[in-house]
Amino acid sequence: MKVYNTLTRRKEEFIPLEEGKVKMYVCGPTVYNFIHIGNARPMIVFDTVRRYLEYKGYEVNYVSNFTDVDDKIIAKAVEEGVSAEEISSRYIKECKKDMADMNVKPATTHPLATQEIDGMIDMIQTLIDKGFAYEVNGTVYFRVKNFKEYGKLSHKNLEDLQSGFRALQVSGEDQKEDPLDFVLWKPKKEGEPFWVSPWSEGRPGWHIECSVMSKKYLGEEIDIHAGGEDLVFPHHENEIAQSECCNGKIFAKYWMHNAFLNIDNKKMSKSLGNFFTVREIGEKYDLQVLRFFMLNAHYRSPLNFSAELMEASKNALERIVTCVEQLKHLLETAQGDEKSQAEQELEGEIQSYRKKFEESMEDDFNTADAVSAVFELVKFSNTHADGSSTKAFVKELLDTIVELSDVLGLIVNKEAEVLDEDIEKLIEERQAARREKNFKRADEIRDQLASMGIILKDTREGVQWKRA
Ligand code: AMP
Ligand code: ZN
Repeated sequence: MKVYNTLTRRKEEFIPLEEGKVKMYVCGPTVYNFIHIGNARPMIVFDTVRRYLEYKGYEVNYVSNFTDVDDKIIAKAVEEGVSAEEISSRYIKECKKDMADMNVKPATTHPLATQEIDGMIDMIQTLIDKGFAYEVNGTVYFRVKNFKEYGKLSHKNLEDLQSGFRALQVSGEDQKEDPLDFVLWKPKKEGEPFWVSPWSEGRPGWHIECSVMSKKYLGEEIDIHAGGEDLVFPHHENEIAQSECCNGKIFAKYWMHNAFLNIDNKKMSKSLGNFFTVREIGEKYDLQVLRFFMLNAHYRSPLNFSAELMEASKNALERIVTCVEQLKHLLETAQGDEKSQAEQELEGEIQSYRKKFEESMEDDFNTADAVSAVFELVKFSNTHADGSSTKAFVKELLDTIVELSDVLGLIVNKEAEVLDEDIEKLIEERQAARREKNFKRADEIRDQLASMGIILKDTREGVQWKRA
């Protein structure tokens, strides 16, 4: 299996640190609003990477954080006259709902930055002790010039960076030894949330959060570190500097970055205001359509969002769903647990589509080609399966289409036979679990319903549901 590594700018053979296991960290969102569909791209892309690794038999430890302390969260809290914690916990909840609706699996662990401050203080202290960091007036900075490999991920040259920074130097920055140095800890401003540290009452910088959470939940060396391409510099470059200087080990073997989701060829972003939230798109489309739309492009290619492409995705996805329904319909009456001679002769062709699917995914997760392999199988099925087919043949086609779609996280098997009353029962059970604060059980039920093609919506009037 080949993976494109931003670090070496090449596709490399994927060899995990430990056989059969993959340790993977994906930088998560800053939670001060509903996520937009640009933020959804890394979620969908790396969830699909995880699903494929699991399909290959790897045990994947998947960690994705929520950045729940940040200037934007604080600003939103001030605007609403509530605590920062209220803002972040509200939007973490909303984000998890969106993830479930996009059929993004919950991470093995979703750590919160604010719950890991002690670990951050420890790592900063180690960096100071080793000469990689220094304190001035309560602020701690990372001393970039002591890490000789700085720039290796973003392929930036230290001298170019330095002259660029000098030109941009702003007031207040002069207490740094070098303009490239970045903040590990900063003192609080009036009214901001803070933690006590040896240097000041304050809070951590953004970069140190991920170094610490990755180390705590995955260890000092991991297989894959991922995020959107805007994170390459400075966020991931700084994470490498912190982790490698602290631990004395290579931080991550493979660095994966998704390209942007654009609108009119500009990056979709909150600051430009050119975004759609996942929630808005969910009002118009089943979010499976959004997932399909994303997977129809290679994750390292920019993707332009448009209503036309969403409509095309909706129709294409519908073709798979219709084929699955047709096969299920045939299965109701089909006979024969052994395939006929003619069907046996077609076995090789069915396997060739699975092979094409796997080869596409093994070539740096070319989901667009993997999707077309599924379509070829759909076309094959529409041509070859009919009322005279054996049960064994129909079942193999059905299972293969559903299985491969599931690796992409696409739910194509709508369980029409799921009764309303069964769904209501599960929803009731979930509500009870939530009342007892058994959120693990509540999330399990949500996932179970999602796998049955049932999408939940928590509204002020209670829980509403619809079939995907
Ligand atoms: P943020 O909340 O801005 O830190 O972003 C969370 C994740 O979404 C990061 O991995 C970003 O790189 C990614 N991201 C943000 N905007 C886009 C976009 N327009 N297209 C693709 N990824 C994005
Ligand atoms: Zn991060």
